[in-house]
Amino acid sequence: MKIVRVDTEVDDITYGGVEPEGIRLYRGSPFVAWEPTETVVAWEQARLLSPVIPTKVVGVGKNYADHAAELVSEVPTTPIIFLKPPTTVVGPLQPVRYPEDSNEVHHEAELAVVIGKVTKDIAPDAVDGHILGYTAANDVTARDLQRADGQWTRAKGFDTFCPLGPAIDTEVDPGEGLSIVARVNGEVRQSGSTGDMVFGVGELVSFISRVMTLLPGDVILTGTPAGVGPVRPGDRMEVEIEGLGVLVNPVVGR
Ligand code: ZN
Repeated sequence: MKIVRVDTEVDDITYGGVEPEGIRLYRGSPFVAWEPTETVVAWEQARLLSPVIPTKVVGVGKNYADHAAELVSEVPTTPIIFLKPPTTVVGPLQPVRYPEDSNEVHHEAELAVVIGKVTKDIAPDAVDGHILGYTAANDVTARDLQRADGQWTRAKGFDTFCPLGPAIDTEVDPGEGLSIVARVNGEVRQSGSTGDMVFGVGELVSFISRVMTLLPGDVILTGTPAGVGPVRPGDRMEVEIEGLGVLVNPVVGR
């Protein structure tokens, strides 16, 4: 199924499931217990929110060989992980704010894993049962600050720097190689396949779970293919992943 979070005028319930007629509202949450209600709202009645509120977003650096090459960097032999604070998360159509302190903000189209249950010290082949599903993400990065700081907390940590959505798909299999595309103002900037990740989803979730306990709703960004590049205020960024829909976010000025 496709799971969304919505702000509607109908109810204060926020989780929903996508159906042919619209969005069916659910009581509870997919991470604990939930059940469908009788209420189906039309898309026009609903504003999509980030499909999940994570306690942390774990990023993975240089997980596509072609992107490592464009950064003039080696492909890592173990995953390189970093954190984005949960305050970076925004939903579909919500603006990404260009920070005062940067002059080089880049888009990074990424597949995001949404963790479904408490996950600690798990083996790669046992990861599947711990994943709720997948959504699209944009790991927005201030590239100039990433270079200047020598570590990535500031460059990747600005408020609004982690658009997620539009929905969590519980059925797709990224191991099959889903196309992943970034467009800016309609022009294709990145075009890759999730099949080209250096470390697959099983290895990544296992590796991270040996460092930190992953909680329900936590998000793992699995790295970006080649073609990252700058955006400016007024631009419209799109991340499209096969089977997951299109995540659209405008960039707004400082
Ligand atoms: Zn990234």
